[in-house]
Amino acid sequence: SYPLDVEAIREQFPILGRKVGGDPETPGEGPDDTVPLVYLDNAATSHTPESVVEAICDYYRGYNSNVHRGIHHLSQEASVAYEQAHDRVAEFIGADGREEIVFTKNTTESMNLVAYAWGLSELGPGDSVVLTEMEHHASLVTWQQIAKKTGAEVRYIRVDEDGYLDMDHARDLIDDSTEMVSVVHISNTLGTVNPVSELADVAHEVGAYVFVDGAQSVPTRPVDVEEIDADFFAFSGHKMCGPTGIGVLYGKEHLLDEMQPYLYGGSMIRSVTYDDSTWEDLPWKFEAGTPPIAQGVALHAAVDYLDDLGMDKVQAHEDHLVEYAYDRLTEFDDVTIYGPPGDDRGGLVSFNLDSVHAHDLSSILNDHGVAIRAGDHCTQPLHDKLGAAASARASFYIYNTREEVDALVDAVDEARQLFA
Ligand code: PMP
Repeated sequence: SYPLDVEAIREQFPILGRKVGGDPETPGEGPDDTVPLVYLDNAATSHTPESVVEAICDYYRGYNSNVHRGIHHLSQEASVAYEQAHDRVAEFIGADGREEIVFTKNTTESMNLVAYAWGLSELGPGDSVVLTEMEHHASLVTWQQIAKKTGAEVRYIRVDEDGYLDMDHARDLIDDSTEMVSVVHISNTLGTVNPVSELADVAHEVGAYVFVDGAQSVPTRPVDVEEIDADFFAFSGHKMCGPTGIGVLYGKEHLLDEMQPYLYGGSMIRSVTYDDSTWEDLPWKFEAGTPPIAQGVALHAAVDYLDDLGMDKVQAHEDHLVEYAYDRLTEFDDVTIYGPPGDDRGGLVSFNLDSVHAHDLSSILNDHGVAIRAGDHCTQPLHDKLGAAASARASFYIYNTREEVDALVDAVDEARQLFA
């Protein structure tokens, strides 16, 4: 049996009951979809339970209105709901309160916000930013480009052969020049769970800040930003049962307080003259213009949904499936799996078949309704290091089953035999 009641969960996700295989250009018109969907692309985006869809519909049907500025009834209702969404997210990740929770578009924007608002003014020649070789482009490209603008140096903590960070190397690299250590919590390619709290200690010893990319961790396990002692922390709503169009930036209040805004405009100001402006309180100082209101309300519902399941159980379910998938895939001696062993990783597995390009493999899997991702998963330098242009990645979530892992493995086996 599973740590979660998978059958009951699946009922809340009608999309999982659909078939695929028809012409995507004319859904519902051309040849019918015929094969049942096996959705194993959750690290890219997760599906949305009924309660979250309903939260979006309730908002548009019942109290759609702009926030902050209206004194009419609907605007007040929308404002309260939008503010409460910040409170709920704060509670979910162990932050002190809404002042520390900025709603952005996604993890990428959260990263850019800090890189621009903090990095542009704080970094300069002689400073270093320390990343890891397994950073997602959201972090790697952002800090790389901010470093170019400011003259700071970017350093990369080595990933060893088993997919773990070389912590001795980390201690060497993080020195008095270091102003920021930006590290992915769970690698979206290797599945490695990084020792972020230990890295935070190393960074704090030299007076550097730590930015944790929690895009893959917040959806899949209990996370407490204060326990980690992260200075900044980012994640996306769409990977945790929420809608697209909303991400979160957590920042320690005193740091967000000291930072200048990233985007300017309405809603983020307190007073404006033709000559100058002053800023709104946190977090609104960082939420210029009309924010993602429906998405915020829906993210609240997504957090409620996950919390009701229990994040411990969500993690146990992920562990269960990824261990099973890892074991089954290692049955094939022509499969290379990247990253740590099956019993020590997040709920995803990236691999390659000796004889088949990941894209062709993905296409064969698609014929069986099995949705995985093929490519570099926005970790191109890491793939270069692994000596693979691309890999196939299966990623699991609360509604996935062992039978779906079997469907994946059977389809992989068929591809092996086809190309042998
Ligand atoms: N970091 C990691 C580890 C991710 O897996 C992703 C999504 N693939 C991102 C950042 C970027 O997330 P988003 O596209 O929602 O900005």
